[in-house]
Parts: sequence; C-alpha cells; structure tokens
Amino acid sequence: MKKFVPVLLFMSVLFTLFAGVGQAASAAVVPKLYLNDQLLKPTVDPQIVQKGYTIVPIRLVSESIGYKVTWMEESQTVIIHSETDEIILKINDSIALVNNEKVQMDTPAVVLKGNTLIPLRFIGDNLGIKVVWNNDSKSVYLYKDDKPVDPTDPSTPPTDPPPGTTGKLTSVLYDGMNGIVVNYEGTATAKTPFKLDNPKRIVIDFPNVGYSDELAAQFSGAEGKIPVTGHATLTQIRYSVFSNSPTTARIVLDLSADAGVELTPGTNELRISMTDGTTTTPTDPTTPTDPTTPVDPNPPTNKVYNVVIDAGHGGTDPGAKSILTGKWEKEFNLALSLKVKALLDKEKNIKPLLSRPDDNFVTLANRVTFAKTNKADLFLSIHANSNPKSDVTGSETYYYREDSKAFANVIHKHFAKGTGLKDRGVKKESFHVIRETTMPAVLLEAGFLSNLSDSNTLFSDAAQTKMAQAIVAGIKEYLKLS
Ligand SMILES: [Zn+2]
Repeated sequence: MKKFVPVLLFMSVLFTLFAGVGQAASAAVVPKLYLNDQLLKPTVDPQIVQKGYTIVPIRLVSESIGYKVTWMEESQTVIIHSETDEIILKINDSIALVNNEKVQMDTPAVVLKGNTLIPLRFIGDNLGIKVVWNNDSKSVYLYKDDKPVDPTDPSTPPTDPPPGTTGKLTSVLYDGMNGIVVNYEGTATAKTPFKLDNPKRIVIDFPNVGYSDELAAQFSGAEGKIPVTGHATLTQIRYSVFSNSPTTARIVLDLSADAGVELTPGTNELRISMTDGTTTTPTDPTTPTDPTTPVDPNPPTNKVYNVVIDAGHGGTDPGAKSILTGKWEKEFNLALSLKVKALLDKEKNIKPLLSRPDDNFVTLANRVTFAKTNKADLFLSIHANSNPKSDVTGSETYYYREDSKAFANVIHKHFAKGTGLKDRGVKKESFHVIRETTMPAVLLEAGFLSNLSDSNTLFSDAAQTKMAQAIVAGIKEYLKLS
C-alpha cells in the first residue's frame, strides 16, 4: 500500500493540548477550524470526545482540499476519494479502509446533525494535512501538506534553524511574459523547487520568511493569487505563509503542462523564469518492479481474454463537469464504456466485463476487486479531464506499473488517433485503479470537458463510436488478435 503522507510526530503534543482545552473549558470554548489560514464555517463545530480526541467535520475539510465525499446511506459509510486515493469509513466503526488496507482510528467516525466527524489525527495521517494548534486563539490550523516528490529536494533539515524570521515577502509580481519577481526585505533563500502532480504545480519554499505587514494586512494571512492567461504552461501564481514552524513562505506555480523553473537571485528580489522543464522531471524511486507474467506472444486461438472496462465515477460521484450545460464526466465514461463493450462482445477471444454497467456509485476498491476476482487479463479505465484553463485540450493515456507501459503505448497509439484531439502522450500517474490492480492496466483521459471543442467531441455519438473502435483495435493489437 502506498501511504498518503508520513505520520506527523507532533500530534501527541497537540492532543494533550486539546485534552486540556476540553477539560478546562467552560462550554464557551469551541475550537475554530482554519484551512490554509481561511476560517472554515462547518455547520457542526469540531468536538472533543472521550480520551480527549478531537473529531472534525470531514466533508468540508475534504472537499476544500479537492477530495470528493460520498455518503452511502444503507451501509452508513463515508467514502473520501480522489482519482488516486480512497478512504472508506463506517459510522461507529474505528477501522477505516485506506486504499483497501485496514487502519485503526483513535475513535470511530460519528454522525452529528447529518455531518460525519472523524478524528483529527486520522485526517493528518491520511489526507496529507498538517495540523497546528494555536493556543492563544484556541484554533486548529489545517494546512494542505504539499509533500515534495522530488527526491533531490533537501527536505526539512533534522535541526531546524532557530525560530524567528529572517526575511519578509513584500510583493510577488508576474512580469506578463515568462517570469515572476519575488520581492523581499531582509534575507530570503529559496529551497530547491519541487514538482507536484494532480494538479500539476511547482512549489518554491522560503524558510524563515513571512509576510511583510502590508502583505499580511492585504491578505489577512491568507493566500495571494495571480491568475495568468496566455502563457504556454503557467496558469496561476499563488503565495502564502505556508507554515509557522519555522515560518515559511511558499510560492506555488499552477501549470497546465510539465514545466520547470530557473531561479536568479538579485538584491532583495528573486526572479523565477519558466522553462520547459524536460530535464528536471523527477522520477519516482518507489516504482515497484512488478514481474507480472506478460501476455503470451503466441496465444492459442481459443484463448479468451477477460478485459475489464472501467467507466470512471458514477451515481453520486459525477466526476468532472462539462462546459456543456448539464453534462458530466460520468455520462461520457459510461457511454463510451458501453460502446467498447458492444464491440468487444463480437470478439470471440475477448470477454468484456464492466466494473460499472450503469449510473451507480462504485468504490475504487470494488473496481479493483472486480478485476481481480474476474481474473482480468487487462484493465482499461475510461475518464475525461478538466482544467481551470478552458483552452487546454487533448487526449492522454496513463499507466502506473511498469508492466502496464507497453499496453499504454499500444492503446494510446490507436486512441489518440481515434479521438482526433491533440495528442498529449502517454503519462505515468498513481491513479488508484491502475496502481492497485495486478494486471496490465491503463486509464484514458479522453479529452478536456472544460474545453468546448473537446466537450462537443466527447459527447458526440459518432465520435464516441470512433473512440470505441480505436480502443478495441488497441486491445486486439496488444493481445495479438489482429
Ligand atoms: Zn475522472
């Protein structure tokens, strides 16, 4: 199993503090809840339960950091999910399923006035959130933990520099072309920038640097944002005081495609120039080398291959919203999956299996289990993409495990032609269904629903038929059936 983030060690200190608050408190003290320095206003306040554990409303927190939350009434289950990770929590059960693996929580999830509350520590450990308790204001500060994925990034040194700031950000400016200028007072040294995916971004941290008084007044400690239009890769610049231990200013460059940066220090300024970044893409050192048996190059003609077609999302999880009114990703995913199945039904050497045959919610874990129990030979997940920039367009094919790369290449060759959209290539990403399955598995992002022309194509019946034919041609070529 891939853990989302390392366990945060200061949690025990935090809970001691909370316990204190709980006991000493007159009824008036209700911890306030901040996420990235913005006050959250949940309909139910965080609660301190037995043994001093704090539980917080999960929907507001999860959705604020880009997870979806799905409530299953009959089974009294909450599913917190993105396309890469999935957490399944049963009400009044202290065992959670994190990417299909059992995790013991301090105290079970509970429902209060229709809201699910789960232990703060579990959120910290499993949703990539850093938790800071401010005793003066009796507040919980949650920070989305942007964990560096670049192995060359010199992450927090074991001995933190003494507290206190050495510099203050005075302004962050976009030059309208290819550069960002960071102005500061005092001393500010940038750490090695690192890249993050989903969404793509580059993060640059400045330890021991806070906001100047003017910036602090302007944003009341919150995140500043500069939207960028017309740049090839840069879509937005964000900056914030990301951490208080030590005080760290953070610049985040939101991207529409892979890019890199070059830093040029000056006097009380740092210039950040965008580059194409092809040489600095970090490679994932944790890639498992999974020696799954390759598909037999000379199959007997009577062999029947089980191929799982996985229509992404469904039911209460609609996926990405289309720029076309009332259209959602789940409809496209299912429509194309059904067309692929109909074509595969005509192939005597292929048995297609739908992990989601209709508009119902299916957990990621159940999709993986479905493929395993059906002894699938291949797994193909169908999705459509979205981007804040409406001019981003094109088709992508994803794989994660090395044993899936060849399948991804063959499928993409056909599929990119089949969609007729811009070819964005074959990419590697840790999506849950292609990571946790055990057979060659790919995930198609057919096009961008945030783009009008892509959307029109994806919801066109004729275009879907072409895409389905292309997928089938790819599957047959990979299985050497054509
Ligand atoms: Zn999707």
